[in-house]
Amino acid sequence: MAIRPICITGNPVLHTRAAEVVDFDAELNQLVQDMFETMDAAPGVGLAAPQVGVGKRIFTYNYTEDDGTHKRGVVINPVLEIGPVSEEMPDDEEESEGCLSFPGYRFGLKRADTAVITGVDLDQNPVKLEAEGWFARIFQHEYDHLNGILYVDRLVDEYKPEVEAIIDAEEWGQNGITWMPGVDDLDA
Ligand code: ZN
Repeated sequence: MAIRPICITGNPVLHTRAAEVVDFDAELNQLVQDMFETMDAAPGVGLAAPQVGVGKRIFTYNYTEDDGTHKRGVVINPVLEIGPVSEEMPDDEEESEGCLSFPGYRFGLKRADTAVITGVDLDQNPVKLEAEGWFARIFQHEYDHLNGILYVDRLVDEYKPEVEAIIDAEEWGQNGITWMPGVDDLDA
């Protein structure tokens, strides 16, 4: 097992649709174990394979609901269904989202309150997860990663100049920039 470096916005793998997983082999198994380790070290509530530089349709999640229920797993080749998304302005306190590939910043973003993810696990057994609230937000965020979309791409127009200014100031927005959980002190 190994922690892998996390790609930062600008790396093409983050902005490209990831490919379906075809081979359920030892290499896939290793990738998923590394993704869990990397997600835990970051730490993050979710991690998509493109974030570790692998353009495959896989994400891991690790989330504890308000009632203490612990949700942890992997979804491969997911399909997402979501409820309606409000067009109101997001609440920057209650709906503040962050991303390990845009580390250290958060912006408010409206998401659907409900989501259903279907896909398979490492043994190709079917997975179906129904989520509400923050857990539903995680699925929407990670699923977006598999389609080359970062949450900052979805922000209301008012935030876009700030996002551009951050990318300029951090010298992101180019290929090959990564950070290493447990080594680089970044609070995502
Ligand atoms: Zn993310």
